[in-house]
Formats: sequence, structure tokens, C-alpha cells
Amino acid sequence: MQTTTLIEPNTQQYTPDEAHAKPATPRAHCRFCATPLNHTLVDLGMSPLCESYVSRQNLNRMEPFFPLHVQVCDECFLVQLEEYVSVEQIFSEYAYFSSYSDTWLQHAADYVEMIVHRLGLAKGSLVVELASNDGYLLQNFVKKNITALGVEPAANVAKVAIEKGVPTMIKFFGRKLAQEMVADGKAADLVIGNNVLAQVPDLNDFVAGIHTLLKTGGVVTLEFPHLIKLMAENQYDTIYHEHFSYFSFITAEKILAAHGMTVFDVEELTTHGGSIRVFARHANDTSKPVSDRVVEMRQRELHQRLDRMDTYATFGEKVKESKRNLLDFLIRARREGKSVAGYGAPGKGNTLLNYCGIRTDFLDYTVDRNPYKQGKFLPGTHIPIFSPDRIFETKPDYLLILPWNFKQEIIRQMGRIREWGGKFVVPIPAVEVID
Ligand SMILES: [Zn+2]
Repeated sequence: MQTTTLIEPNTQQYTPDEAHAKPATPRAHCRFCATPLNHTLVDLGMSPLCESYVSRQNLNRMEPFFPLHVQVCDECFLVQLEEYVSVEQIFSEYAYFSSYSDTWLQHAADYVEMIVHRLGLAKGSLVVELASNDGYLLQNFVKKNITALGVEPAANVAKVAIEKGVPTMIKFFGRKLAQEMVADGKAADLVIGNNVLAQVPDLNDFVAGIHTLLKTGGVVTLEFPHLIKLMAENQYDTIYHEHFSYFSFITAEKILAAHGMTVFDVEELTTHGGSIRVFARHANDTSKPVSDRVVEMRQRELHQRLDRMDTYATFGEKVKESKRNLLDFLIRARREGKSVAGYGAPGKGNTLLNYCGIRTDFLDYTVDRNPYKQGKFLPGTHIPIFSPDRIFETKPDYLLILPWNFKQEIIRQMGRIREWGGKFVVPIPAVEVID
């Protein structure tokens, strides 16, 4: 005799609509030049949204996963991820608060000193930052009595900025908002975009908006992780659904030029594993000549063949080898009976752990200074997140640093793990154990 057990789907807990998935396009097109995309840079498989930390009451619910398939345009060489998830879904509530990193706060303060001096900004100047987060940067202008205005779509982080005294518009930026701002007397002497260009699905609308927002004679500075570094140093974990585009200098220059702006200077930065800061102006503003550094950077990228498709073909295999090496280390450590905890719960950690398939079988838990993340679980892998105190209670043998871009800061802060023989492990660019 057979009995049939009906397992009812748990419909009340999850509807496909919650995922806000975009329907698949027959073939994706370049978000800058609209050429059909035919070349894969790397395919990291399926991954959850890396900022969607899971609360305890949702642990048993379904979790949406989306592809992390990165392509390269063979016309303009823009490296890009399709907008698999609507941007409203990603940025309506954002767990990333810039102010939780001392290094990043210092970077912002140094930038403000430099740019105020360089552009001669004073009372009466208007500075606008796009994706101004919790006001980590603009607060420095406010202290100098320079009018600052943030534009930030994530209401929860914008609220923190407003409470700090940094005026912030809770909006997505683009051409239309720029026109409204200019009509409202808010044309900017300086527009700042730090790590935002990557997060914009409609790149052309956003960059056109910058051109509109700039006052005659105004300057825009944009910082973004440098694609050269991403590829040379295996930083595949900086790929996540929030990052739609990955820029070389030559491609960024091309995009700005298409919208009437000229890059007149460039700086290399150590932030986020190696970024560049470009300075651009209206193309017809001849008061700011193009520096030699621009010419050098362009030549260096051409010398490294970033304008050739074969340069992009080998990255995928490098990423697979990096995964094997990290797993190899963890398997050996666990077989030897060592305990491994994580430090940090950054977006990049979630790409790394999901791609490598690292769960609590390898990593007991992780810690983060951000109280918003403590008590929650990492998306996909469900590794629990505690306060950093936990490290000193459990004394793990290894501490895997997930935000490796802040490794020096973390090694300084957590140096006491050496008291019990604890060692630091950095996964990127290659597995490195630091005593
Ligand atoms: Zn293109």
C-alpha cells in the first residue's frame, strides 16, 4: 500500500514578485554604446544580492539568486553586468554606511582639503555629491561653511546624513533631476561621484545629468575602482549586482567625451584595491588644460592592450584558480582542526563566499563593526555576523579578512589575536597568511 504525502509549497512566505527580477533579454546590449554583447569576462554563477543580509526570522525562507555574468563590449570595451535586478530594489534600503571605515573617512577628509584649495572653493560655492551616502564626505564641506548638497536614493542612509546637518535629496540622479536642480538655482561648481558610476544602470542618462548640473567653469571628480587593478589582482569579488559597470580609464574618458566633457587630470588612489580619480570639465572650458598624467594613463592602458579583446579572455580562468587556492587553504586548515572566523561582512565578501561555496563548514562566523549587520546572517551562505568582541571570546586560529582593501586598518585594530597565536588570512589577490 502506498501513501502519498503532499508537500505544500510555502506560498505565504515568498512570491516571485518579491525578487524584482528583470525579465531576461534575448541578448544584452552595451549600456553605453548599445552594441550586442558577445564576450564573457567571467561568469560567477548565481548569487544573492550582496547587501541583502538575512534576519533570523527569515532564515528558513527562500532567497532570490541572480546571475553574476560579466561581459565586455567589443566596441567600447566597457566591462558590464546586465541589470538583473531593478535598481530600486537594490538601493531603497542600503546596508552600506560609509562612515564605518576610518580609512575611508580619512580619504574623504583629505580629498576635501585638496579640492577646496585646488578649485578655490569658498562660501557661495555649491558642491553636490551624487550617492552621498551618510554624509561621510560632505560634512567636511559643511564644516568649512561651503554649501553642500547630497543626492542619495537610499532613504535610510540619507536620513543619517540629514541628522548630521548635511542637506540631502532622497532621489535617483539623472538628466531630469539635474534639469530641475539647475532650474532651482542649484547648478554646481563641483560635482562629486565616488564609487557611484559603477552603480548606475542608465549610464548615459547619469553622465548627461552631470554635464547639465555643472556650472560653466565647474568641475566634476569621479572615483572608481580601476579595471586594470581588478584584472591584474584578481579582484573578482568586487563584482556584484550593485556594480553594473567596471571602467578602464580609456572607456571612462570615451563616455565623458560622448556627453560633452573632457578629462583634464587623473590621479591613482589606493582605495578599494586601486582606484582612479578623474577630473573633468565641459569640453569647451579651455581654462583647464589637459595634464600630462592624462596622456600617460591613456598610453599605459593602450600599452596593456585594454583596447583588444584577447586581453580580457584569460581572466575567467585566473578566477577559477583563485577559488581552488582559497578552498585548498581552508580544507587543509579545517582538517588540521583549526578554527577560522571571518572579519567583516562587506558586499565583496558575499560574492567571494557564494562563488567559492564557503559556508559555516569552513567559516564559523564573521564579525562587523556595523551594528546594522550584527545579529544578521550573510546572504546565501547564512554565516552569522557578530560584533568584533566575539573574536576575543572564541580566539580563532585564523581570521579571514573579507574587506581586504582595509587589511592594514584591520590588522592594526585586531593585532591582539597574536596573543593566542591567531593569524590573519587575506584571500585576494592570492591567499596570504600574515602572522
Ligand atoms: Zn559598448
